[in-house]
Amino acid sequence: FSINMSQLQLEDELGKGAYGTVRKVLHKPTNVAMAMKEIRLELDDSKLNAILMELDILHRAVAPEIVEFYGAFFIESCVYYCMEYMDAGSLDKLQAAGVPEDVLGRITGAMVRGLKFLKDELQIIHRDVKPTNVLVSRRGGIKLCDFGVSGQLEKSLAKTNIGCQSYMAPERIKGESQNNIGTYTVSSDVWSLGLSMIEMAIGRYPYPPETYANVFAQLTAIVHGDPPELPEHYSDDSRDFVARCLHKVPELRATYAELLDHPFLRADRKRSVDIAKWVEEALEHRDRKMAEERQAKMLQDTVSA
Ligand code: ATP
Ligand code: MG
Repeated sequence: FSINMSQLQLEDELGKGAYGTVRKVLHKPTNVAMAMKEIRLELDDSKLNAILMELDILHRAVAPEIVEFYGAFFIESCVYYCMEYMDAGSLDKLQAAGVPEDVLGRITGAMVRGLKFLKDELQIIHRDVKPTNVLVSRRGGIKLCDFGVSGQLEKSLAKTNIGCQSYMAPERIKGESQNNIGTYTVSSDVWSLGLSMIEMAIGRYPYPPETYANVFAQLTAIVHGDPPELPEHYSDDSRDFVARCLHKVPELRATYAELLDHPFLRADRKRSVDIAKWVEEALEHRDRKMAEERQAKMLQDTVSA
Protein backbone atom coordinates (compact mmCIF):
# COMPACT_ATOMS: atom_id res chain seq x y z
CA PHE A 1 0.00 0.00 0.00
CA SER A 2 1.14 3.58 -0.37
CA ILE A 3 1.12 6.37 2.18
CA ASN A 4 -0.10 9.91 1.63
CA MET A 5 -0.35 13.03 3.76
CA SER A 6 -4.14 12.89 4.27
CA GLN A 7 -3.72 9.64 6.22
CA LEU A 8 -1.32 11.20 8.70
CA GLN A 9 -1.99 13.05 11.92
CA LEU A 10 0.97 15.31 12.73
CA GLU A 11 2.39 15.11 16.25
CA ASP A 12 5.54 16.34 18.04
CA GLU A 13 8.74 17.39 16.32
CA LEU A 14 11.45 14.78 16.98
CA GLY A 15 14.44 16.73 15.75
CA LYS A 16 16.02 18.78 13.03
CA GLY A 17 18.86 17.80 10.76
CA ALA A 18 20.89 19.62 8.15
CA TYR A 19 18.25 18.98 5.47
CA GLY A 20 14.91 19.03 7.20
CA THR A 21 12.68 18.23 10.11
CA VAL A 22 11.59 14.89 11.54
CA ARG A 23 8.11 14.69 13.11
CA LYS A 24 6.20 12.02 14.88
CA VAL A 25 3.01 11.19 12.98
CA LEU A 26 0.14 8.77 13.41
CA HIS A 27 -0.87 6.75 10.36
CA LYS A 28 -4.63 6.82 10.94
CA PRO A 29 -5.72 3.83 8.78
CA THR A 30 -3.38 1.43 10.63
CA ASN A 31 -2.93 3.31 13.93
CA VAL A 32 0.87 2.96 13.55
CA ALA A 33 3.14 5.67 15.00
CA MET A 34 5.73 6.73 12.43
CA ALA A 35 8.57 9.22 12.06
CA MET A 36 8.18 11.46 9.01
CA LYS A 37 11.20 13.24 7.59
CA GLU A 38 10.61 16.32 5.47
CA ILE A 39 13.34 17.16 2.96
CA ARG A 40 12.98 20.42 1.08
CA LEU A 41 14.31 20.18 -2.48
CA GLU A 42 13.91 22.68 -5.27
CA LEU A 43 13.34 20.14 -8.04
CA ASP A 44 10.90 19.45 -10.85
CA ASP A 45 8.40 16.57 -10.71
CA SER A 46 10.40 14.22 -12.95
CA LYS A 47 13.42 14.44 -10.62
CA LEU A 48 11.18 13.98 -7.57
CA ASN A 49 9.59 10.92 -9.18
CA ALA A 50 13.05 9.52 -9.90
CA ILE A 51 13.90 9.93 -6.21
CA LEU A 52 10.72 8.13 -5.12
CA MET A 53 11.56 5.27 -7.48
CA GLU A 54 15.05 4.98 -6.07
CA LEU A 55 13.71 5.05 -2.50
CA ASP A 56 11.55 2.05 -3.34
CA ILE A 57 14.50 -0.28 -2.76
CA LEU A 58 14.06 0.55 0.94
CA HIS A 59 11.07 -1.79 1.01
CA ARG A 60 13.60 -4.60 0.67
CA ALA A 61 15.76 -3.35 3.54
CA VAL A 62 14.13 -5.54 6.15
CA ALA A 63 16.40 -6.68 8.96
CA PRO A 64 16.36 -6.49 12.78
CA GLU A 65 19.08 -3.80 12.71
CA ILE A 66 17.49 -1.57 10.07
CA VAL A 67 14.72 0.98 10.70
CA GLU A 68 11.63 -0.06 8.78
CA PHE A 69 10.63 2.02 5.76
CA TYR A 70 6.89 2.63 5.27
CA GLY A 71 6.85 4.78 2.15
CA ALA A 72 7.56 8.19 0.67
CA PHE A 73 5.64 10.82 -1.27
CA PHE A 74 6.18 14.40 -2.37
CA ILE A 75 4.16 17.58 -2.11
CA GLU A 76 5.31 20.61 -4.05
CA SER A 77 9.09 20.51 -3.73
CA CYS A 78 9.30 18.52 -0.48
CA VAL A 79 9.99 14.81 -0.18
CA TYR A 80 8.27 13.14 2.80
CA TYR A 81 9.75 9.93 3.99
CA CYS A 82 7.96 7.72 6.55
CA MET A 83 9.80 5.24 8.73
CA GLU A 84 9.47 3.30 11.94
CA TYR A 85 9.23 5.53 15.00
CA MET A 86 11.91 4.71 17.58
CA ASP A 87 10.68 5.87 20.97
CA ALA A 88 14.04 6.49 22.69
CA GLY A 89 15.44 8.57 19.82
CA SER A 90 18.98 8.64 18.52
CA LEU A 91 22.15 7.61 20.38
CA ASP A 92 23.63 11.12 20.48
CA LYS A 93 20.92 12.03 22.99
CA LEU A 94 21.57 8.99 25.20
CA GLN A 95 25.38 8.94 25.32
CA ALA A 96 26.04 12.06 27.48
CA ALA A 97 27.15 10.07 30.54
CA GLY A 98 29.32 7.78 28.40
CA VAL A 99 28.26 4.33 27.22
CA PRO A 100 29.64 1.47 29.36
CA GLU A 101 31.62 -1.26 27.61
CA ASP A 102 28.98 -4.02 27.65
CA VAL A 103 26.33 -1.68 26.20
CA LEU A 104 28.85 -0.39 23.65
CA GLY A 105 29.48 -3.99 22.61
CA ARG A 106 25.80 -4.67 22.06
CA ILE A 107 25.30 -1.45 20.07
CA THR A 108 28.43 -2.08 17.98
CA GLY A 109 27.32 -5.63 17.19
CA ALA A 110 23.97 -4.34 15.93
CA MET A 111 25.67 -1.66 13.82
CA VAL A 112 28.10 -4.12 12.22
CA ARG A 113 25.33 -6.63 11.44
CA GLY A 114 23.17 -3.86 9.98
CA LEU A 115 25.98 -2.50 7.82
CA LYS A 116 26.93 -6.00 6.64
CA PHE A 117 23.31 -6.73 5.74
CA LEU A 118 23.05 -3.53 3.66
CA LYS A 119 26.24 -4.34 1.83
CA ASP A 120 25.76 -8.09 1.28
CA GLU A 121 22.03 -8.15 0.54
CA LEU A 122 21.42 -4.78 -1.12
CA GLN A 123 24.89 -3.63 -2.25
CA ILE A 124 24.37 -0.43 -0.27
CA ILE A 125 27.14 1.54 1.42
CA HIS A 126 25.64 3.52 4.30
CA ARG A 127 27.68 6.75 3.83
CA ASP A 128 26.37 8.49 6.95
CA VAL A 129 27.28 6.36 9.95
CA LYS A 130 27.14 8.47 13.13
CA PRO A 131 25.32 8.43 16.50
CA THR A 132 22.36 10.53 15.25
CA ASN A 133 21.67 7.81 12.68
CA VAL A 134 21.52 4.99 15.22
CA LEU A 135 18.04 4.83 16.74
CA VAL A 136 16.98 3.10 19.92
CA SER A 137 13.70 1.89 21.38
CA ARG A 138 12.80 1.65 25.07
CA ARG A 139 12.43 -2.10 24.62
CA GLY A 140 16.11 -2.24 23.71
CA GLY A 141 16.04 -2.31 19.90
CA ILE A 142 19.03 -0.76 18.10
CA LYS A 143 18.64 0.16 14.42
CA LEU A 144 20.38 2.09 11.66
CA CYS A 145 18.66 4.74 9.53
CA ASP A 146 19.48 7.33 6.84
CA PHE A 147 21.66 5.24 4.55
CA GLY A 148 22.28 6.41 1.01
CA VAL A 149 19.99 4.58 -1.41
CA SER A 150 19.15 7.36 -3.81
CA GLY A 151 21.95 8.80 -5.90
CA GLN A 152 19.52 11.42 -7.21
CA LEU A 153 18.56 12.48 -3.68
CA GLU A 154 22.21 12.58 -2.64
CA LYS A 155 23.07 14.86 -5.56
CA SER A 156 20.12 17.13 -4.84
CA LEU A 157 21.10 17.60 -1.20
CA ALA A 158 24.08 19.62 -2.44
CA LYS A 159 26.45 19.34 0.49
CA THR A 160 27.37 22.97 0.96
CA ASN A 161 29.53 22.41 4.03
CA ILE A 162 30.94 19.27 5.60
CA GLY A 163 29.94 20.66 8.99
CA CYS A 164 31.96 20.93 12.16
CA GLN A 165 31.38 17.29 13.11
CA SER A 166 32.81 15.23 10.30
CA TYR A 167 32.58 11.46 10.52
CA MET A 168 34.18 11.17 7.09
CA ALA A 169 37.23 8.97 6.72
CA PRO A 170 40.55 10.69 5.88
CA GLU A 171 40.47 9.42 2.27
CA ARG A 172 37.02 10.93 1.79
CA ILE A 173 38.03 14.30 3.20
CA LYS A 174 41.00 14.26 0.82
CA GLY A 175 38.78 13.13 -2.09
CA GLU A 176 36.24 15.84 -1.36
CA SER A 177 38.89 18.56 -1.55
CA GLN A 178 39.98 17.16 -4.92
CA ASN A 179 36.36 16.91 -6.04
CA ASN A 180 36.76 13.20 -6.29
CA ILE A 181 33.71 11.38 -4.97
CA GLY A 182 34.72 8.01 -6.39
CA THR A 183 36.89 7.23 -3.38
CA TYR A 184 33.99 6.04 -1.25
CA THR A 185 34.17 2.37 -0.37
CA VAL A 186 32.69 0.26 2.36
CA SER A 187 35.82 0.80 4.49
CA SER A 188 34.95 4.49 4.79
CA ASP A 189 31.89 3.39 6.79
CA VAL A 190 34.18 1.30 9.01
CA TRP A 191 36.09 4.48 9.92
CA SER A 192 32.82 6.26 10.80
CA LEU A 193 31.83 3.25 12.93
CA GLY A 194 35.07 3.47 14.93
CA LEU A 195 34.68 7.21 15.41
CA SER A 196 31.07 6.76 16.54
CA MET A 197 32.18 4.17 19.12
CA ILE A 198 34.65 6.63 20.66
CA GLU A 199 31.97 9.32 20.70
CA MET A 200 29.60 6.99 22.57
CA ALA A 201 32.30 6.05 25.07
CA ILE A 202 33.34 9.59 25.94
CA GLY A 203 29.94 11.21 25.39
CA ARG A 204 31.12 13.79 22.85
CA TYR A 205 32.52 14.10 19.32
CA PRO A 206 36.21 12.95 19.38
CA TYR A 207 37.61 16.01 17.53
CA PRO A 208 35.98 18.76 19.65
CA PRO A 209 35.55 21.92 17.51
CA GLU A 210 36.61 24.20 20.39
CA THR A 211 40.15 22.76 20.34
CA TYR A 212 40.72 23.78 16.71
CA ALA A 213 41.05 27.30 15.33
CA ASN A 214 38.71 26.45 12.45
CA VAL A 215 37.15 23.62 10.45
CA PHE A 216 40.23 23.42 8.23
CA ALA A 217 42.48 22.73 11.25
CA GLN A 218 40.02 20.10 12.46
CA LEU A 219 39.90 18.30 9.12
CA THR A 220 43.68 18.49 8.91
CA ALA A 221 43.86 16.71 12.28
CA ILE A 222 41.62 13.92 10.95
CA VAL A 223 43.67 13.52 7.78
CA HIS A 224 47.20 13.94 9.18
CA GLY A 225 46.98 13.32 12.96
CA ASP A 226 47.00 10.00 14.81
CA PRO A 227 43.55 8.41 14.95
CA PRO A 228 41.75 8.75 18.32
CA GLU A 229 41.50 5.80 20.74
CA LEU A 230 39.05 4.46 23.29
CA PRO A 231 39.85 5.67 26.86
CA GLU A 232 42.19 3.48 28.91
CA HIS A 233 39.54 2.10 31.24
CA TYR A 234 38.06 0.16 28.31
CA SER A 235 39.35 -3.40 27.78
CA ASP A 236 42.25 -4.25 25.46
CA ASP A 237 39.83 -6.13 23.19
CA SER A 238 37.53 -3.15 22.78
CA ARG A 239 40.46 -0.80 22.21
CA ASP A 240 41.93 -3.14 19.61
CA PHE A 241 38.54 -3.37 17.88
CA VAL A 242 38.37 0.41 17.52
CA ALA A 243 41.98 0.57 16.33
CA ARG A 244 41.08 -1.97 13.60
CA CYS A 245 38.35 0.44 12.43
CA LEU A 246 40.40 3.64 12.60
CA HIS A 247 43.36 2.80 10.37
CA LYS A 248 44.32 5.83 8.29
CA VAL A 249 44.90 3.56 5.28
CA PRO A 250 41.46 2.25 4.19
CA GLU A 251 42.86 -1.07 2.89
CA LEU A 252 44.15 -1.86 6.39
CA ARG A 253 40.77 -1.47 8.11
CA ALA A 254 38.93 -4.61 9.17
CA THR A 255 36.05 -6.00 7.09
CA TYR A 256 32.61 -6.58 8.64
CA ALA A 257 33.25 -10.34 8.72
CA GLU A 258 36.51 -9.75 10.60
CA LEU A 259 34.82 -7.36 13.01
CA LEU A 260 32.05 -9.88 13.78
CA ASP A 261 34.74 -12.46 14.51
CA HIS A 262 36.75 -10.08 16.74
CA PRO A 263 37.02 -11.09 20.46
CA PHE A 264 35.15 -7.88 21.42
CA LEU A 265 31.99 -8.95 19.56
CA ARG A 266 32.45 -12.63 20.34
CA ALA A 267 32.41 -11.70 24.04
CA ASP A 268 29.29 -9.60 23.47
CA ARG A 269 27.42 -12.59 22.06
CA LYS A 270 28.27 -14.64 25.15
CA ARG A 271 26.94 -12.26 27.82
CA SER A 272 23.52 -10.83 28.52
CA VAL A 273 23.15 -7.04 28.42
CA ASP A 274 20.00 -5.23 29.54
CA ILE A 275 19.72 -2.49 26.91
CA ALA A 276 16.19 -1.54 27.99
CA LYS A 277 17.46 -0.79 31.51
CA TRP A 278 20.38 1.26 30.16
CA VAL A 279 18.00 3.24 27.91
CA GLU A 280 15.78 4.03 30.91
CA GLU A 281 18.78 5.31 32.91
CA ALA A 282 20.14 7.30 29.96
CA LEU A 283 16.75 8.97 29.44
CA GLU A 284 16.54 9.81 33.16
CA HIS A 285 20.06 11.24 33.07
CA ARG A 286 19.13 13.37 30.07
CA ASP A 287 15.92 14.66 31.68
CA ARG A 288 17.75 15.47 34.92
CA LYS A 289 20.39 17.43 33.05
CA MET A 290 17.77 19.32 31.07
CA ALA A 291 15.92 20.24 34.28
CA GLU A 292 19.17 21.41 35.89
CA GLU A 293 19.98 23.58 32.90
CA ARG A 294 16.51 25.10 32.93
CA GLN A 295 16.84 25.86 36.64
CA ALA A 296 20.29 27.40 36.21
CA LYS A 297 18.94 29.60 33.45
CA MET A 298 15.96 30.70 35.58
CA LEU A 299 18.31 31.56 38.45
CA GLN A 300 20.51 33.59 36.14
CA ASP A 301 17.49 35.44 34.75
CA THR A 302 16.32 36.34 38.29
CA VAL A 303 19.80 37.55 39.28
CA SER A 304 20.16 39.75 36.20
CA ALA A 305 16.60 41.13 36.58
P1 ATP B 1 22.08 15.15 9.74
O1 ATP B 1 21.09 16.04 9.09
O2 ATP B 1 23.43 15.79 9.82
O3 ATP B 1 22.14 13.79 9.13
P2 ATP B 1 20.52 14.12 11.94
O4 ATP B 1 20.69 12.68 11.64
O5 ATP B 1 20.44 14.49 13.40
O6 ATP B 1 21.66 14.99 11.29
P3 ATP B 1 17.87 13.96 10.83
O7 ATP B 1 18.15 12.65 10.19
O8 ATP B 1 17.08 14.95 10.06
O9 ATP B 1 19.21 14.69 11.23
O10 ATP B 1 17.12 13.66 12.20
C1 ATP B 1 16.86 14.65 13.16
C2 ATP B 1 16.60 14.01 14.51
O11 ATP B 1 15.33 13.36 14.52
C3 ATP B 1 17.60 12.91 14.85
O12 ATP B 1 18.74 13.43 15.51
C4 ATP B 1 16.80 11.97 15.76
O13 ATP B 1 16.98 12.35 17.11
C5 ATP B 1 15.35 12.21 15.33
N1 ATP B 1 14.86 11.06 14.55
C6 ATP B 1 15.14 10.79 13.26
N2 ATP B 1 14.52 9.68 12.82
C7 ATP B 1 13.81 9.20 13.87
C8 ATP B 1 12.96 8.05 14.08
N3 ATP B 1 12.72 7.17 13.10
N4 ATP B 1 12.43 7.87 15.31
C9 ATP B 1 12.68 8.75 16.30
N5 ATP B 1 13.46 9.83 16.18
C10 ATP B 1 14.03 10.09 14.99
MG1 MG C 1 19.66 11.29 10.53
